[in-house]
This record gives sequence, C-alpha cells and structure tokens, in this order.
Amino acid sequence: MNSPADGQHVTAPAGNVTPLVEVRDLKKHFPVQKGLFSRISGYVHAVDGVSFHIDPGETLGLVGESGCGKSTVGRTLLKLLEPTSGTIQIDGQDITKVDRQGMLPYRRRMQMIYQDPYASLNPRMSAGEIVGEPLIIHGDQSNREERRGKVAALFERVGLRPRLMDSYPHEFSGGQRQRIGIARALALGPELIVGDEPVSALDVSIQAQIINLMMDLQDEFHLSYLFVAHDLAVVEHISHRVAVMYLGRIVEMTDKTSLFEMPLHPYTEALLSAAPIARSGSRNRRRIILTGDVPSPINPPSGCHFHARCPYAMVRCRVDVPALREIVPGHVAACHLHDAGVTFPLAQAA
Ligand code: SF4
Repeated sequence: MNSPADGQHVTAPAGNVTPLVEVRDLKKHFPVQKGLFSRISGYVHAVDGVSFHIDPGETLGLVGESGCGKSTVGRTLLKLLEPTSGTIQIDGQDITKVDRQGMLPYRRRMQMIYQDPYASLNPRMSAGEIVGEPLIIHGDQSNREERRGKVAALFERVGLRPRLMDSYPHEFSGGQRQRIGIARALALGPELIVGDEPVSALDVSIQAQIINLMMDLQDEFHLSYLFVAHDLAVVEHISHRVAVMYLGRIVEMTDKTSLFEMPLHPYTEALLSAAPIARSGSRNRRRIILTGDVPSPINPPSGCHFHARCPYAMVRCRVDVPALREIVPGHVAACHLHDAGVTFPLAQAA
C-alpha cells in the first residue's frame, strides 16, 4: 500500500460504481444590472452547460484559468448558489428543486473548504467554537463537554493540538487555519467535500502538507472531493480524474494520467505546456503560448468559446459548438479537430 505522502491514494474508486454525484447540463447565469433602475442588460454565463459525475472515494480535479467558472461550479453543486438550470443528483435524487428545509440532510453530506482560511473563519470565535459550530447548527444532542471531546478529536485528526481549541484564528499560521477549516468541514461526517482552491493561498511546503492530509482523510473516511484549482501540479497530485474548464464549459475530462500524458484538446495542451511540471513525454513538446485573456463571459465567443485564442482554429470553429464526446474510451474532449482526423498531441516536436 502507498502512503498518501507518495502521491498515490490507498483507496482507488472501483469501476462500475454508482456515482455519489451526477451533474447534468448545469448552468449558472448571473444577471448584469445597469442604470438607475437596475435593468438587466445581459447575463454572465459563468457555468454554461456542465456535466460530470464523482464516484464515492474519488477526487475530480477541476482546472482552468481564473474566471472560467470553476469556483461557481463548486458553489452551485453545494447549492450555495441556485442553479439557473440543469440537475444535480446526490445518490440519484435531484437536489436542484429541493427547498431550504429539505436541503438540511444534504448539507450534512456536502461541505466546503475555502481558499482563504483566514477570511472564512470568524475572528470573534475560538477555533474550537468554529469547528463545533456545525454540530450545534445541525442539532447535535451532546452536552458541552461531550461536544468539546468531539472537537478535540477533530483537532487531533487534522494535526492540531487540542489545547489550541481556545485560541482565536489570528493566533494560527495559514496552514493551521486551513486545518481548522478542514476540521470544521469534517465535523458532520460528510461524503463530499468541495475544495475551492484550498491550498493556493499557502506556501508551497505547507501546500504539500495540506494536500497529503486531504488524501489521508479521503482514504480513512472514503470521501469524495471536487478539487477546484488553477495549479496543475497540485491537481495532478490529488486527483483521480481531471476536468478542464474554459469559459463556463468543460472542454476535456479523463483520468489524470491520460490527461497529462495525452491531452486531446488544444487548450489543455496550452495549459500543460505553460506549467512547470516535469514528466515523461512532455520534454519534446513545443510550448504553446496563449495570447490574450479569457474573453468576457457576458458575451462569450460564438461556436467554440476558445476559437479567438486557439492556434488551430478553423472557419467551422466560429460557428459550431463542439460537442464534448468520447474520443478514446474514458476520455472526452470538445474539439472539431477530432472530426477532421487530426492526431494529438498537436504540439509534439517533429
Ligand atoms: Fe480550436 Fe476549433 Fe478545437 Fe475550438 S474546436 S479548440 S477553436 S480547433
């Protein structure tokens, strides 16, 4: 067996399991209001028809540039934001139409770890109160001492000394604060945790500790993660499968080995070629420089959203939306080049 520190999960999801989470054609559009009367002048297409599943005990990494909608996917999945359309099934039950009261049992099962561990912790509450708060909100029947015992156990499990329970967030380092956030997320025994860039605010050495802790906890509690990040090295380390997002849509999704060794979308290739990750097969690849920023999601480009920045764009790309389809078993990508019989990887040096 591998230890989490090896970068390998002890628990690998088995094939043909029933997904814990099944998302179909999820959209989240935000109205843009203008003028004295706040008239709606358009919509930000933050998430524009996204489908994926997450198996029990699996980590799906969700990557893309800033502004691609990946954090909105995470928040909408947990219904911290109401979806515009689409379905989110948990164990086969669509939660998109479930009201606030009906969501309570699901809230126990789905938790979030935030990017900024300082901003997400109430500075007026002690660390112990922060970690124990979900228990109180969800009607934990323990008395005060029993609850302190539960919180102490959570502290120990995330590598914090229980005697720090009475300290306040400002007395902890960034890494310790993120451990408090993880302990709070674990308090209700969730099955799914959405990590919204959970290590990007931390020093690199601390990042590794937090990632290894999350992998360790996944193996112990059979947790499922949606791991949202822009750092490909981090995503490669923790994920079983990876989905690449561009301007509100998933453009490629597969297991992490296939994605990093044989990307089947020009955008993924460009991200990989720009990332400082040493791996076999990547040395011969030409660097693809992406020009320009991600276009505005208020008026996204027609056809393939990536066409304005894609070095391989064809006339068709401006008109037709490429479908996300299976190119090889278990590997989906949305690019017209596959219809044209083009061989990937595109940037392989001759
Ligand atoms: Fe580039 Fe066209 Fe493929 Fe989009 S569909 S990634 S523009 S080649």
